[in-house]
Amino acid sequence: MPPIEEQYMYDLVVLGGGSGGLAAAKQAAELGARVAVFDYVTPSPKGTKWGLGGTCVNVGCIPKKLMHQAALLGEAVHEAAAFGWVIPDIKSVQINWEALSVAVQNHIKSVNWVTRVDLKNKKVEYINALGYFKDPHTIGGIMKNGEENVVTAKNILIAVGGRPKYPDIPGAIENGITSDDIFSLSQPPGKTLIVGAGYIGLECAGFLNGLGYNTTVMVRSIILRGFDQQMANIIAEEMEQRGVHFIYQAKPKLIKKEADGILVHWVDKLGQVQKDVYDTVLFAIGRRALTKDLKLENAGVICIPDDDKIDAVDEQTNVPHIYAVGDILHKKPELTPVAIHAGKLLSKRLFANSSETMDYTNIATTVFSPLEYGCVGLSEEQANIIYGEDNIEIYHAYYKPTEFFIPQKDNSHCYLKVVTLRNNDQKVIGMHFIGPNAGEVIQGFATAIKSNLTFPILKSTVGIHPTSAEELIRVFITKRSKMDPKPQSCCS
Ligand code: FAD
Repeated sequence: MPPIEEQYMYDLVVLGGGSGGLAAAKQAAELGARVAVFDYVTPSPKGTKWGLGGTCVNVGCIPKKLMHQAALLGEAVHEAAAFGWVIPDIKSVQINWEALSVAVQNHIKSVNWVTRVDLKNKKVEYINALGYFKDPHTIGGIMKNGEENVVTAKNILIAVGGRPKYPDIPGAIENGITSDDIFSLSQPPGKTLIVGAGYIGLECAGFLNGLGYNTTVMVRSIILRGFDQQMANIIAEEMEQRGVHFIYQAKPKLIKKEADGILVHWVDKLGQVQKDVYDTVLFAIGRRALTKDLKLENAGVICIPDDDKIDAVDEQTNVPHIYAVGDILHKKPELTPVAIHAGKLLSKRLFANSSETMDYTNIATTVFSPLEYGCVGLSEEQANIIYGEDNIEIYHAYYKPTEFFIPQKDNSHCYLKVVTLRNNDQKVIGMHFIGPNAGEVIQGFATAIKSNLTFPILKSTVGIHPTSAEELIRVFITKRSKMDPKPQSCCS
């Protein structure tokens, strides 16, 4: 018998070349493992397809952040005039959608290219094929020309992520689009209906409205499920104030192409059927895990029937040499840095004798709504459930960003709160911040929370003035006190 390594072509084969899969593959190769990555993008129903790198790079975080930035710049042009910039004919300032979309797509293509080069340099074999299990150690990959590429591996990592869901209503697939299509639309989206009020729906609504398109969000039940609901409602109020329309407690029923646009019928909260015509209908109603194509039964890997995801302990599935990372994991945050970190740590455990495991708690995130919402740790609702209302203290404040004064920007939704325990040295267990650059503000505080931040330590930290982030250090009013959390003067 040859040694076990020589029985297989690779030490690690990764299914899915997205955030998690690529991070694991590169880390493993750097540690001397023989690695191959299968990546294949099935075109969206509208025919949109993209290159290597997965959701984040091609149809997720990156194009989303760039379009968010484009929308913020449109706002900034108007603010600039208040700061003394002479902008001829400011009323005619408008977005050129085609130029924006081309610029975004060019950036993505450059990232696709750099990713391929990086894999080559690190000696990771990239196989552009739709992979599936032939048996527990053998992967088949169907390539574009229909041929099959078959490899064997000692370890296999599933990192195939997910794709947007469509509702099961007439005309949805034929006439609707999803986040897979919006960033490369060749025509301006025009009057747009976004179905779904999770973070992807709100972010798309935020930048489309900011770019000047008439935008409506259809909400089935609540805004930003899973996030702190007080903060979520403030975000919705802010978006409404900026011009986004919201249709609450409504469900689409029929989507039909007509001469003047896309006709949408929906059932409202009273059970009545309402209708309107849009240029674009975008579904953001959740994502489905891509486990169906994998033929997991050939390897004996078990899926959770409710969401088709994989339940893994320390990323190890029920089959010991088969692992999973990223969006495919059951009840884990669907975020790029989570997939990357878990993938790297897994490879270090597999190929460098590390014992460090992934900690899925206190993961910071940001909703890039026009006024951003960043958070880390527990929401107020979660803290109440876990510790009981009597055992937590909520500090909160509204505040006025300095840069809002001259252009007289509305600051009524600039709000933050810090969730702490009342005993245990007042440990900080959640931080929530709505305001400019919320992601940048919260990132550092996430490290502080990981280092067991307490409220007294937060209060003993000297702020950076004048910033919005310092407001998290200045906070002193508890919700329990019922004192008014409205802003004090600038520098008191
Ligand atoms: P993916 O990145 O989805 O990669 C999986 C890859 O596997 C894909 O290329 C897929 O085509 C391929 N594949 C699937 N099946 C097979 C198969 N059988 N064989 C071969 N290849 C296959 N996260 C953040 O942290 N911040 C954000 O701001 C953010 N914004 C987002 C905005 C949008 C619009 C969306 C949709 C997502 C956003 N995310 C964001 C989430 C983030 O993109 C995902 O969490 C992350 O990409 C998950 O990585 P992954 O490795 O699990 O899967």
